[in-house]
Amino acid sequence: MNFIPSELIKKKKLGGEHTAGEIQWLISEYSRGVVPDYQMAAWAMAVWFNGMSEDEIATLTLAMRDSGSKFNFKNLARPRIDKHSTGGVGDKTTLIIGPILAAAGVAVPMIAGRGLGHTGGTIDKLHSLPGFRLDLNRNEFERFVAEFNFALIGQTADICPADKKFYALRDVTATIDSLPLICGSIMSKKLAEDLTGLVLDVKFGTGAFMKTVEDAVTLARLLKATGEKNGVRVSALITNMNEPLGRFVGNSVEVFECAEIMAGRSHVLHGVDYYARPRELSLSLAGHMLFLAEKVRSPEDGYALAQNILNSGAALREFKNLLQRQGPAHLSELPVAHYSQDIVAKNSGRIVSMNTELLGLAAVELGAGRKTATDNIDYTAGIEICCQLGDVLEPGQRLYRIFANSPANFAAAEELIHAALTIDANRNITIEILPLIVQVIP
Ligand code: URA
Repeated sequence: MNFIPSELIKKKKLGGEHTAGEIQWLISEYSRGVVPDYQMAAWAMAVWFNGMSEDEIATLTLAMRDSGSKFNFKNLARPRIDKHSTGGVGDKTTLIIGPILAAAGVAVPMIAGRGLGHTGGTIDKLHSLPGFRLDLNRNEFERFVAEFNFALIGQTADICPADKKFYALRDVTATIDSLPLICGSIMSKKLAEDLTGLVLDVKFGTGAFMKTVEDAVTLARLLKATGEKNGVRVSALITNMNEPLGRFVGNSVEVFECAEIMAGRSHVLHGVDYYARPRELSLSLAGHMLFLAEKVRSPEDGYALAQNILNSGAALREFKNLLQRQGPAHLSELPVAHYSQDIVAKNSGRIVSMNTELLGLAAVELGAGRKTATDNIDYTAGIEICCQLGDVLEPGQRLYRIFANSPANFAAAEELIHAALTIDANRNITIEILPLIVQVIP
């Protein structure tokens, strides 16, 4: 059946609900280039204002998934579980979780993403390892998952091409931040992985796309409903991005940090272990994944199993095996920046808030992310975090260390970093610091 695009735009503009056939037609004709960008942009804006029902979102998700090829792991006689984070600053848990799950005998077929705006991406982190390959062909990917449990690829031209095209259009038409469209985009790629279970790390806070807990919960519930309508068990953790996660923000430095955590090390500064939060979040997410995989009787038991695997050194061994298979790549070859500079406190006082998005943008300014889609990344660039929310500062105290292969953008990054911190001269002021995991949606 054929439809008239302007009639579909009008229907959504007036708050109507599409039939499944209308959405399937729109996505398929947009993919084929029959519906032009300008009409799709108008439709996206109508969705931005009027939203979509759960049924509409489920249809959109499947239509985008079916615009390309999908994986088929049905012949694997074991659960396939993935984790998806909605994006953060210093968010590196994938590199710890994948190896833990692989060591526990759970398949993790992962389509990883690039950095987006101020947030980092697993693909960019792994590309910092010379020789690491994310462009596996379909056979290699399926074989690696079948034989070794854990493999990673980037979104190729034939995985959800409709999402790839539509995402680029949304990016330039101010329609990224639409919950139904985010949901369709994320879940189409996850459903292409042929999963049995998915754990979502939905972030809220100054460094997240969802600024409030309420918005994060709404997105989590939508993602969960969409996954479950399609036969995938989904649970979600709502997690705090009011400050960066862990010690480093960047690419090679985050891989280094993950290896340190998997080697059982700590990094203690002023009595605080900066590896504790990424370790904790990785174990919690892995615990929920192990539960969905039916390896344990509760997420708490899953946490304990994940902790045993991490402490035994098995996760680090799995990670090194991954680097060998999808490389060869070696941790000893992680590139190190040529230049670094300390950023120190100008006055005394207490850190009452951190604009984590600005810290992420400072990392982008240093070269750790892209300002335009075609920018090259400086894999050595990044920020070492030496302060936390609530810290009491003395003038001259080191807050951050920035580094890159060129100091050209240090001044601009420093300006963003100072703008990110709100320091109250009253050292005794009380502030509310929310926990790392504020809610679990089982
Ligand atoms: N990540 C995605 O893959 N898609 C979105 O729309 C937003 C975040």
